[in-house]
Amino acid sequence: MEKLKLGNFDLCKIVESVSPAFELNFLLPDADTDTVEANRSWLYPNYIDPKTDILMISFHSYLLRTGKYTILIDSCVGNHKDRPAFPEMHNLNTDYLQKLKTAGVSPDEIDFVMCTHMHPDHVGWNTQLEDGLWVPTFPNARYLFGKTEYDSWLHYHKEIAGTEADSIPEVASSSLRLSFEDSVLPVIAAGQAEMIEGGFELEDGVSVEDAAGHSPGNFIFKLESAGSRATVSGDVLHHPLQLVRPDWSSGFCSDPQLSAVTRRRVLEETASSGAILMPAHFPTPSWGQIEASDDGFRLITQ
Ligand SMILES: [Zn+2]
Repeated sequence: MEKLKLGNFDLCKIVESVSPAFELNFLLPDADTDTVEANRSWLYPNYIDPKTDILMISFHSYLLRTGKYTILIDSCVGNHKDRPAFPEMHNLNTDYLQKLKTAGVSPDEIDFVMCTHMHPDHVGWNTQLEDGLWVPTFPNARYLFGKTEYDSWLHYHKEIAGTEADSIPEVASSSLRLSFEDSVLPVIAAGQAEMIEGGFELEDGVSVEDAAGHSPGNFIFKLESAGSRATVSGDVLHHPLQLVRPDWSSGFCSDPQLSAVTRRRVLEETASSGAILMPAHFPTPSWGQIEASDDGFRLITQ
C-alpha cells in the first residue's frame, strides 16, 4: 500500500482497480502516436500497456489523516453499481473496504468524504447496498459536495425528465444519471451532505479550490502541513500524457477548452510551489513533484 508523509499529514492510496482501460483516442481525442513514441521510455509499461497500447488507468481514493480528521478523498466506483455503459465500472465486487481496513480505518471512522466532482468513479463508495437500498457507507461522515457541481447535475436530471419537479424520475439514461441517483441523492436524503464552494477551508492546511472544465463545478484540494504541499487534482488530468500535452483534454470533459486552461494553470501553480501532484487515475507511480519541460511538464518520481 503506497503511503506519503506530507509534513504532519499521512496520506495513503486506496486502490479499487488498475487495468488497461481506454484506447488512446477514446480518452484523449486530440492525442497523436508521435508524442506517445517520443515518450515511450517512461510511459511503458506503467502508464501504457505494452501488449495492447491501451492506456493504463487506476481508480483510487486518497485517505488523508491530518491528526484532527480522517478524510476520504474521492470514493471510486463502488460495488454493485449498475453502469451498463461502462463495463469497467459495471456491477463491481471489489475488496475496497478491506483495503481501507488494511490502511487502519473502518467506515465509521471516516469524518469527511470530499469529492472533487460527481462523475461515477468519484462518488461510488459514498453509498453501499443494504437490504436493497443505497445507504451512506460512512455512517459518521459529513460528505462535502460542490454546490455548483450538485446544482448542475440536478439541473441536468430535471432536463432529462422534462420537468421542473424536484423528484428525479426513473428513466434509463447515462451512468452520470445513475450515479447521481445511487451515490449522491441517498447521502443528501440521509442528511449527511454539506454543499461547499471554492475557497472553503476544512481545517488549517486542507482547502478547496475551483477548477472547472472537466466538470461544471470541478474542485481540486490543496494540502499543506509543516511546509510540505500537495495538490490533489482529481480529473484535472487523467493520464501522464497530459503533462507533456496539457492542451489535450479528455473525452469526458464537459468543457474541453476550459479544462485545458484549468489544467495548465493548476500544473503551473503546482510546479512553482513545489507541491506534490496527486491525480486520481495515474497508476503507480501515482504522484510526484512536477517541473516545466519544453511546453509541458515532467513528473519527478523517486
Ligand atoms: Zn475520474
